Amino acid sequence: MTPLYQGSILVVIAHPDDECIGAGGTIKKHTDQGVDTDVLCLTGNEVRNEEIRAACKVLGVREVYTNQRDDFAIDWSLEQDIVSTILKSRPTAIITHSANDYNRSHVRCSKIVTDAVEWASHVTMHENAVRVDRIYNMEINSLHSRPNVLVDVSDSFDAAMNALRKHTSQLQKADGFYLRFYDARTRLRGVQASCERAEAFTVSFPFHAGPFYGRNAVESLV
Ligand SMILES: [Zn+2]
Repeated sequence: MTPLYQGSILVVIAHPDDECIGAGGTIKKHTDQGVDTDVLCLTGNEVRNEEIRAACKVLGVREVYTNQRDDFAIDWSLEQDIVSTILKSRPTAIITHSANDYNRSHVRCSKIVTDAVEWASHVTMHENAVRVDRIYNMEINSLHSRPNVLVDVSDSFDAAMNALRKHTSQLQKADGFYLRFYDARTRLRGVQASCERAEAFTVSFPFHAGPFYGRNAVESLV
């Protein structure tokens, strides 16, 4: 299939199920358009990695990179793993958590990804350096007070719900909370976006230093 848009996406998340709760509809919408989309999950175990693979299959994800690591064990030792995955996946855009999330692991993930994006762009460090154009920060339980972008996921919502249902171990634990929350949040964002369902993101333009300053130069701001 010839993609509708150029570019590809890497989704970097703290836990299996974050990809569905934060951006399930957006991921499916893009894979349906032929946009290559990979997922890197920083924590996991045998059961949860099975679940995320099944969920990502429903979402049409190209490659799922998993880890065996405790839920809370997110630290800077993961940065190199993220850089290597960026170099392999070569995304133009990254979707990850927000630094304003209530969950500490999500916040850490967001900060490490932001740093890794800068590091992956260093031509002096990597022969195959990658310059990621945009980072989209998704929302899980904490809602963005000022989202920059609302993605219409009306057509991909059902698939995203089916994908979320693959995370059986988590859904049982929380007594259906995440299904109800995802349902309600996408409806609320849909009202704001004048469509049935939507997912909200803030956007940031990554800092690319050193040899890249030249490429940041513009002739005009309009
Ligand atoms: Zn999480």
